[in-house]
Amino acid sequence: MRTVTQAGPLRAAIKGWRNRGLTVGFVPTMGYLHEGHLSLIRRSRAEHDRTVVSIFVNPTQFGPREDLSTYPRDLDRDLALLTRQKTDLLYLPDAGDVYPEGHSTSVSVRGVTESLCGPSRPGHFDGVALVVLKLLNRIAPDTLYLGLKDYQQYRTLERMVRDLDVPVRVVGCPTVREKDGLAMSSRNIRLDAAQRRQAPALRLALLRGRDLVRSGVLSAARLSSEMSRAFRRSAPGGRVEYFEAVGAERLERVVRLSPEEPVCLAGAVRFGRTRLIDNEIVPARRR
Ligand code: AMP
Repeated sequence: MRTVTQAGPLRAAIKGWRNRGLTVGFVPTMGYLHEGHLSLIRRSRAEHDRTVVSIFVNPTQFGPREDLSTYPRDLDRDLALLTRQKTDLLYLPDAGDVYPEGHSTSVSVRGVTESLCGPSRPGHFDGVALVVLKLLNRIAPDTLYLGLKDYQQYRTLERMVRDLDVPVRVVGCPTVREKDGLAMSSRNIRLDAAQRRQAPALRLALLRGRDLVRSGVLSAARLSSEMSRAFRRSAPGGRVEYFEAVGAERLERVVRLSPEEPVCLAGAVRFGRTRLIDNEIVPARRR
């Protein structure tokens, strides 16, 4: 696997592939890779001649009191995993290469960012949209692979690509979970043993919400309070940031969900300083 840290050699490598008519899939990550990331890489490899992975802990998507400096990192381990997955190219930029002096443009995707994580992480999705747009401009892949675990991020980037005519296909890949249902996340390593035991409560609360939706409950307030209650019951050591039920396409807050549209049930909880998110999409047809 080749590793590049600068935009110039990155573009040159991709141009070489393009000249040979090869297709390119792209998987952006913040590193500390796990099976969730690897599932995206496998999908890209199955569908493309070449796969580019980026590792960049993007400062613009972290708030001033968030965990940028303590975000888990282990580059040697990541390199070994990427080599084993036969990744073709790792793009490992430094912050100065992505955000040179004088950088002053922002990218703001409205609508889909106003519910769920939007209010509790001001500026987060602007930071995500900015960095992914820059990476797409540098790499110009055929396909962008994203995890549905970060469902609001997926919808935000899908909207950005559509609104700005970015010539890339966006593919959302299913959430990979631990045996007990906890969604894999680089941040799970930060949980102590007691917190780790309680963390699957996030998923259980969302499944409780799913059962309610399936039984015909469409009041967003009722779903939110039932999911919070279910979480608190099985995770006394956790704190609820939100549980919400919104339409799965536009992620708009509504009083009553439409029976015609899939529902996105999403939650964010904290165990100590560790913030975990998860979601469950309930299709309209199975209700
Ligand atoms: P991150 O490194 O957390 O920024 O994630 C990089 C990409 O991997 C994003 O598209 C995530 O949605 C995706 N991802 C993270 N965790 C999982 C998971 N458990 N299952 C599937 N995809 C995931």
